[in-house]
Amino acid sequence: MNCLFCKIIAKQIPAKTVYEDETVFAFEDINPQAPVHILIIPKKHIPTTLEIGNDDHALIGHMLQVANSIAREKKVAERGFRLVMNCNRESGQSVFHIHLHLLAGRAMHWPPG
Ligand code: 5GP
Ligand code: ZN
Repeated sequence: MNCLFCKIIAKQIPAKTVYEDETVFAFEDINPQAPVHILIIPKKHIPTTLEIGNDDHALIGHMLQVANSIAREKKVAERGFRLVMNCNRESGQSVFHIHLHLLAGRAMHWPPG
């Protein structure tokens, strides 16, 4: 499959791994938008949030808990962090394998741009 993030999971394309287990992979974003910018992805190829199915509930919940663990490890949990999952073009989704952005280390703006 010609998917950038599937290739990163398969280690065909290098990435700075932050966390890995049987179902989830996390790595540093190549173009960080904050001092901490990590992408948490399922190993299962799901193109957008619209394709999250009934069988994926535990997986999505696990991704959120992995994000929490990384935020604690990076010492940003208490000061705060932002989790973002873009869906389709107008949101800014550019890689069509779902990914949770973990952004932290600076004050975030609201509403987002
Ligand atoms: P999206 O715009 O789809 O929500 O987020 C895609 C993210 O993937 C972007 O923040 C972008 O910087 C990151 N990205 C794109 N290509 C690569 C890559 O080859 N390696 C890594 N580590 N991140 C990438
Ligand atoms: Zn994929």
